[in-house]
Amino acid sequence: MAQPVVLIADPLDAAALEGLGADFDVRHCDGSDRGRLLAALPAADALIIRSATRVDREALAAAPRLRIVARAGVGLDNVDLAAAREAGVEVVNAPDSNTTSVAELTVGLILALLRHIPAAGASVRAGEWNRSAFQGEELSGKTVGILGFGRIGRLVARRLAAFDARLLAHDPHVPDGVAEELGVEPVRFDALMRRSDVLTVHLPRTPATTGIIGTAALAMAKPTLRLVNTSRGGIVDESALETALKDKRVAGAALDVFAVEPATHNGLLAYDNVLPTPHIGAGTRDAQYRAGRDAVSAVRRALLP
Ligand code: NAD
Repeated sequence: MAQPVVLIADPLDAAALEGLGADFDVRHCDGSDRGRLLAALPAADALIIRSATRVDREALAAAPRLRIVARAGVGLDNVDLAAAREAGVEVVNAPDSNTTSVAELTVGLILALLRHIPAAGASVRAGEWNRSAFQGEELSGKTVGILGFGRIGRLVARRLAAFDARLLAHDPHVPDGVAEELGVEPVRFDALMRRSDVLTVHLPRTPATTGIIGTAALAMAKPTLRLVNTSRGGIVDESALETALKDKRVAGAALDVFAVEPATHNGLLAYDNVLPTPHIGAGTRDAQYRAGRDAVSAVRRALLP
């Protein structure tokens, strides 16, 4: 009997795919090349993607044998979930694959902001040795506010516990006791904004969270606030942040995500106290391996008896 066809449409970690060929007919195509994708889909029993391949109604209609779409990663923005449901195609992602990577980047960005690490490095490269220009601050003894206390927010809290920082969190959907167990004080949104020296955002982007860090929220913040956003662009209102930076009502921001990406022309880049990174939260070898491995496991569960 012919083996089920697993179509891999985005680049995946090679180690995660090891052994797949023993049980399946593994085929590769470039899913961002629409013509090739549509030509390869009719044979596919499973489709493994990352973020580049668009799985819409047209793609699903071209794949009558398809039983599962596995997203090696978290976001499912590129999959039409309603169309998949109607077509009876299971859609799975790998929600835990990159949480540690994002939490570690967050800790790195907090320290980078407090110690001006990127600017200090750039100045040495430019031939300077200006030690007094980069006087920083310790994280120890500071108050860190965590906005959104889900998977990543909690991992950040566990890591920051080692820095002797006071930890606050705001998340109305977390059951009582969860924060306290991790040594974190649950607080209301306005208290989080008022008390934090560092505020780190770990929310999903929804209509309720879009722009939540806006003019009103930033007006409550200490002028020494450092803001870190490794969640989703748009949750921080960028024009409100720009105004607050210009008026020195906040002290700095590290942003891995932007309302429009690539953010190469974003006005915030003009500020020395803004540390931008190009959406690299999940960009570790470990996370990519885990995402691929979880997608492969889901395909095995769906297709093998
Ligand atoms: P999660 O769903 O586990 O946690 C999100 C938390 O936010 C939940 O506990 C929820 O109750 C809370 N929340 C929702 N609305 C809220 C509100 N109005 N106020 C306070 N809390 C609210 O998600 P996660 O896995 O921790 O991911 C967090 C974010 O990180 C997501 O936006 C995700 O897309 C993003 N992310 C970014 C990268 C990257 O590359 N930078 C990688 C992975 C995930």
